[in-house]
Amino acid sequence: MSPDIAIIGAGVVGLSSAYVLAGTGRSVIVLDRGEAGMEASWAGGGILSPLLPWDYPEEVSLLAARGAALYPDWTRELHDASGIDPEYRKCGMKILPGNRSLEKAGPWCEAHQTPHLALDDGFMLPDVAQVRNPRLIRSLRAALEKMGVSILTHHEVASFERCGDRISALLTSKGERFAAGNFVVCAGAWSRVLLEPAFSSPEIYPVRGQMLLFDAPGLTDTILLRDEIYLVPRRDGHLLVGSTLEYAGFDKSVSAEVGRQLHRKAAEMLPGLENLQPVRHWAGLRPGSPGNLPTIGRHPEIPNLYLNCGHFRYGVTMAPECARMLSSALT
Ligand SMILES: Cc1cc2nc3c(=O)[nH]c(=O)nc-3n(C[C@H](O)[C@H](O)[C@H](O)COP(=O)(O)OP(=O)(O)OC[C@H]3O[C@@H](n4cnc5c(N)ncnc54)[C@H](O)[C@@H]3O)c2cc1C
Repeated sequence: MSPDIAIIGAGVVGLSSAYVLAGTGRSVIVLDRGEAGMEASWAGGGILSPLLPWDYPEEVSLLAARGAALYPDWTRELHDASGIDPEYRKCGMKILPGNRSLEKAGPWCEAHQTPHLALDDGFMLPDVAQVRNPRLIRSLRAALEKMGVSILTHHEVASFERCGDRISALLTSKGERFAAGNFVVCAGAWSRVLLEPAFSSPEIYPVRGQMLLFDAPGLTDTILLRDEIYLVPRRDGHLLVGSTLEYAGFDKSVSAEVGRQLHRKAAEMLPGLENLQPVRHWAGLRPGSPGNLPTIGRHPEIPNLYLNCGHFRYGVTMAPECARMLSSALT
């Protein structure tokens, strides 16, 4: 029997959508053309907040705040169900002096009841938390499998089979056919490429971000931020340095020169990094969208096609809230 819902894309958005939908008793399958969660959702920093919340539209603040608020219970639940700890941790984020738009920080925090501290050496948001992306994905995947959700990796969706005004099935690049009652596109930066040959699509485009990883225990307990460059300390002593915003199409290659620039800027913020060499350098493609606003809900032309895509810089933060919104649109 075909499932109630087929989700295309097993990034954090597709998997959290599957988790909420399966939790309502629906039968769900998820298809991904690669491994689960190995694109943007693996590459990101896992900061559960916009970098400078006062620089975004109110809707972005709201989605991010609601998503972040769901994380403590959600990650506890996932940990219990899967045995894998997503390493949710409230570590705070300190914005260092000299950052642009810092004059807006105090009034914005007051207006949004966001805890904050104006320090001599920066502006502190003590409630900002982080999660460890690869662990979150592994935990979600294991929890979903226990719930009976099939996650079909190495299944690239190539097109949609139509029956009247509805979609009847997905067709993969290997010629397999997957029928379902409803279909959800969670294909991250590739969502528009998937939709556009057949349907209209929101504006979604890849935005590359390069990251460095250091083995640097004890240098900071708090996320540090200055001028788009952030440092995220992990529990095991690793330190992430990110990131860039590059409009380079679907190209995930890294550049040694950009790596050196990131390293230099990070060492200006944390001099202990100066003489260390990064242990890893990678890039991921964010699902860019105008205003950083995702599209969640039913497609305007097809009654059984839904979208949850275009989360740009904050898809990890927003994922649990957007999954809830998608579920209410579907039910
Ligand atoms: C460098 C970097 C740093 C970031 N830092 C943060 C941060 O600190 N905090 C935060 O909240 N967010 C951060 N983000 C953003 C966040 O990672 C993304 O918004 C989020 O991961 C998007 O999730 P997604 O599931 O939509 O996309 P993805 O994780 O890219 O998943 C999409 C999936 O769809 C699959 N797919 C695509 N086309 C097809 C097809 N035709 N058939 C089948 N499967 C298909 C892909 O294989 C992929 O697995 C960062 C991103 C990057 C790149």
